[in-house]
Amino acid sequence: METLIPTINRLQEVFLTVGAEIIQLPQIVVVGSQSSGKSSVLESLVGRDFLPRGSGIVTRRPLVLQLINVPPLQERLKIENGNGVKQNAQNSFPGVKAEEWGTFLHCKNQIFTDFQEICREIEAETERSSGSNKGISPEPIHLKIFSPKVLNLTLVDLPGITKVPVGDQPEDIEAQVQGMILSFISNPNSLILAVSPANSDLATSDALKLAREVDPDGRRTLLVISKLDLMDAGTDALEVLLGRVIPVRLGIIGVVNRSQHDINTQKSLEDSMRDEQAFLQRHYPSLASRAGSRYLAKTLSRLLMHHIRDCLPELKTRVTVLSAQYQARLNSYGQPVEDHSATLLQIVTKFASDYCNTIEGTARHIQTSELCGGARICYIFHETFGRTLQSIDPLGGLTELDILTAIRNATGPRPALFVPEVSFELLVKRQIKRLEEPSLRCVELVHEELQRIIQHCSSFSTQELLRFPKLHDSIVEVVTGLLRKRLPIANEMVHNLVAIELAYVNTKHPDFTDAAQVSASVNSQQAEASDGGKRWKNDKVGEEKAPATGFGSPSKGQAINLLDTAVPVSRKLSAKEQRDCEVIQRLIKCYFLIVRKSIQDSVPKTVMHFLVNFVKEHLQSELVGQLYKQPLLQELLIESQDTAQQRIEVAQMLEALKKANNIISEIRETHLW
Ligand code: GDP
Ligand code: MG
Repeated sequence: METLIPTINRLQEVFLTVGAEIIQLPQIVVVGSQSSGKSSVLESLVGRDFLPRGSGIVTRRPLVLQLINVPPLQERLKIENGNGVKQNAQNSFPGVKAEEWGTFLHCKNQIFTDFQEICREIEAETERSSGSNKGISPEPIHLKIFSPKVLNLTLVDLPGITKVPVGDQPEDIEAQVQGMILSFISNPNSLILAVSPANSDLATSDALKLAREVDPDGRRTLLVISKLDLMDAGTDALEVLLGRVIPVRLGIIGVVNRSQHDINTQKSLEDSMRDEQAFLQRHYPSLASRAGSRYLAKTLSRLLMHHIRDCLPELKTRVTVLSAQYQARLNSYGQPVEDHSATLLQIVTKFASDYCNTIEGTARHIQTSELCGGARICYIFHETFGRTLQSIDPLGGLTELDILTAIRNATGPRPALFVPEVSFELLVKRQIKRLEEPSLRCVELVHEELQRIIQHCSSFSTQELLRFPKLHDSIVEVVTGLLRKRLPIANEMVHNLVAIELAYVNTKHPDFTDAAQVSASVNSQQAEASDGGKRWKNDKVGEEKAPATGFGSPSKGQAINLLDTAVPVSRKLSAKEQRDCEVIQRLIKCYFLIVRKSIQDSVPKTVMHFLVNFVKEHLQSELVGQLYKQPLLQELLIESQDTAQQRIEVAQMLEALKKANNIISEIRETHLW
């Protein structure tokens, strides 16, 4: 069993470097009511007098006591005088020329070889944080005891359970102490040493009650019956020790500690243990080999090792999980920059390809919450832009009067027989112009999306970029600049697309000629058939209804309003005017649809060619051209302070975890329990 001690020590060493809150060390916690003998039990386990003991509240802060087995001084001196090759936890205090010594966490460099002094330091440190008048504090004192006489154990001495506040103690002292005790024993990695004096009824034991609360199955509770020597004459604890009163799974061990009188007369621990053994032989001969302080120490050591063994698989998993987490974090920080130009090229290339992939839809980080990249551009083309065009009324904003005025203006002074073509051209151009605004808006939307992809790529895909804030900003700047440069070009092209349509109204367009002819012929037929009466009648109506406007009867109206060139607000149209209007409307509609179709088709193509594809193709070279400049490299690749520091810390942690993992594996392999 002792062969495991060095391994446990190593394990503890590693755990300390890894941090106690990450890996919980199995430890033994002493619980019991005030003056039940907790400190005395601990002291006999250590084999030295050093804990403040006595009646009333003495232990007022938790004391975390780590016992560390060291070779006797002679042996240590030999190792040190030898080549000093053998390095392990046991000779980590090479300078100490004492057989046994202690150190406190709160005064790290001080070595206490006088155990009386340790006792005084505990008292002083207790007073430092909890006052001199019986106050308590949950802040533990950490003490390490190095000795050849101890087994490797970590023990926690706690203030006893009290009921009535005394001195400076607060009203809720009972609850406070219970909370403190529970915080230690609820740690599933602790063994609970419930101390109950033999001279009080076990059924009233507060220690057992608290232990049951956190360990109902009794898997980690050991019962210590103290003060066997103080039982009333004629009674003994045999029934209790045999577990017949209250069974305790891990066992019940009776002990006899030193009485206050023994302490006062400075009875040595050796004498006390001898007397204890003699007492047990006398009163409990059948149990003598399974009772007493020595047996308690061995039992505890064994339980602790079993406990460690039981914890190993879980510890291993935790170390593995933590390692993976830290490894991932380390990877995310990347390697420290050695070759600046290569790193810059690599990051720029990755950014450029991420950018293109997001447009192409081949990116690895596909978003599911909203459309982005190429998909959004597609949406802009076909939904936003397409729908807007579709919703434009070919004759929108064009009243019959507008048409009529245009016809009349086009015919000049002569009354025309046929609908003048000039007026059609004039009017259809006016409609075509209306396609420009939504087309330019389409360019703008795509431009915005391309801008958004920059953010998307720099935060999502190119994790590395976060390391180099300057480079990140520069990349954003360059891409934004490139987009800004291309925007007016794309706009110009789209503007031209509409301008081209306006430049020449192609009435010989194959889709148009048929429609034009049909509507023209239909109209002339209609005109012939319905001429005469209808026209006369309509003229009459017009004449009657609109004399004041001067637009109805050509002879009278013109005579009256010779100088009035304003377009009349409304009036009834003549049949011919009506027909002319209809013809023009039909032609406009027909031609407009042709142009709209072509614009709807060519604007996306233009945007793709002049903006999207251009940026895609030139992004990489633009980035390299602007950023890959020798004097810039160093500056661009300055890591953020945090990253550099975090990388070091994470690497150290990872190293410690690896060591812990090795030790765990070692224990599992070499010791088949
Ligand atoms: P704690 O408050 O639980 O830490 O108890 P202490 O260890 O301070 O002991 C309280 C008092 O009981 C001290 O005066 C001890 O000497 C005494 N005491 C503890 N254990 C025994 C024992 O087994 N026998 C006798 N006779 N006295 C004991
Ligand atoms: Mg005590």
